[in-house]
Amino acid sequence: MALMTRDDYIASLRGLKRHVFIMGQKVENPVDHPLVRPSLNACAMTYELAQRPEHSDLMLATSNLTGRLVNRFTHLHQNPADLVAKVKMQRLLGQMTGCCFQRCVGMDAVNAVDSVTCEMDRALGTEYHARFRRYLQHVQEHDLVVDGAMTDAKGNRRLTPSQQADPDLFVHIVERRPDGIVVRGAKLHQTGALNSHEILVMPTQTLAEADQDYAVAFAVPADAPGIVMIYGRQPSDTRKLEGGSLDVGNREFGGHEAAIIFDDVFVPWERVFMASEYAFSGPLVERFAGYHRQSYGGCKVGVGDVLIGAAQALAQYQGTDKASHIKDKIVEMIHLNETMYACGLACSAEGQPTASGTYLIDLLLANVCKLNVTRFPYEIARLAQDIAGGLLVTLPSEQDLAHPEAGLYLDKYLRSVDRYTTEERCRMLRLVENLTLGPGAAAYLTESLHGAGSPQAQRIMLARLADLEEKVRLARRLAGIENSLAE
Ligand code: SF4
Ligand code: FE
Repeated sequence: MALMTRDDYIASLRGLKRHVFIMGQKVENPVDHPLVRPSLNACAMTYELAQRPEHSDLMLATSNLTGRLVNRFTHLHQNPADLVAKVKMQRLLGQMTGCCFQRCVGMDAVNAVDSVTCEMDRALGTEYHARFRRYLQHVQEHDLVVDGAMTDAKGNRRLTPSQQADPDLFVHIVERRPDGIVVRGAKLHQTGALNSHEILVMPTQTLAEADQDYAVAFAVPADAPGIVMIYGRQPSDTRKLEGGSLDVGNREFGGHEAAIIFDDVFVPWERVFMASEYAFSGPLVERFAGYHRQSYGGCKVGVGDVLIGAAQALAQYQGTDKASHIKDKIVEMIHLNETMYACGLACSAEGQPTASGTYLIDLLLANVCKLNVTRFPYEIARLAQDIAGGLLVTLPSEQDLAHPEAGLYLDKYLRSVDRYTTEERCRMLRLVENLTLGPGAAAYLTESLHGAGSPQAQRIMLARLADLEEKVRLARRLAGIENSLAE
């Protein structure tokens, strides 16, 4: 099967028989649900752009498994150029959608599972790698969206998985059969869950021997029996149910997260890629997180481009664009945004091959990238709100703007620079509101903070990877300290 078009993709999701709850309702067909549709549109852009010749360099890659052209979101990175192209593709998609387009988690998961299963087989004599590559070939050939599922419910953070009062607070194996395993638990905050064909599950943290039933990686179709999805709310999400086009801010696109429950889900061995090899849980978590920390150096930057553009446009509409402090603020936003991009590119350019041949980013630089992402979008958002002014949060509704009486007053009194309409100004304010306070802020801000691991996780990695001893040695040599009593 060839690459799917946008329409093929949407039709393929309709074929899934999923068990989905949205705002207390069991929803048979989430594809057409107005809360879900913007996120589907965003994910569908990963298909649409792949069909456009001008984007083929970024969106397509030659599979090392089959030699055929595949969507880059299903590709194993074969060199640093692939890693760089990934970040550029993500920036492009962030620019086109202004939101989370969701498909990266699967790309990051398949790349992480690929190298770790190879190393696991070499160390333990297991047979996971060939199995995984057969699975990935299926994903590539059918051009599927994979939800990379890592974050467990976790319960009491002081306790290990097996110490929890409820053993299901981390996904685990509850039964081993000749033909496969049965798993139970939940993965929370699952980006794009309802827009995915497949779920690729990984452990959430480094595990010890006592927790070996929790050291499990596997793939299941999104409509496998026992899988339940519960849709997550976002700020101002019900504006999408109002049927307008202005108050939503981003008319066409959005992201989503959902909780995925695994209620005794059977997984055949052919789709199991780790089953109690706890020593490899740590590397798998570290690599998936590393790839996703790189990803943010692309996608969040693309969304930042949109927000900077919106702030500049508002300054023009309001007649403040020539003020020196506004220009300074815009430059500051650009500096912060491009710094994140520079980190995303740097960790890619410094990528190295793993044992499977799949390239891994420089983990230290990927963690620097993400640590910047935990802060810079907040500052960019603050500056955008500064430039936008208080109308950002006092603007009357779309219905008032359209009302024959109220609308006349609003059109007269919300007008700024003559050559721009009141509607233009209001639309741009709503876009800034969406990205900094509304549903878009869930991805641009909170996800920047906690997605791919909260800031402390990156700090731990920096402390571990930075080789402080070597820095001390460098300093001592220049300071003329040859021998130290401490040695
Ligand atoms: Fe991709 Fe960014 Fe969304 Fe993660 S947050 S899935 S990297 S768009
Ligand atoms: Fe994310």
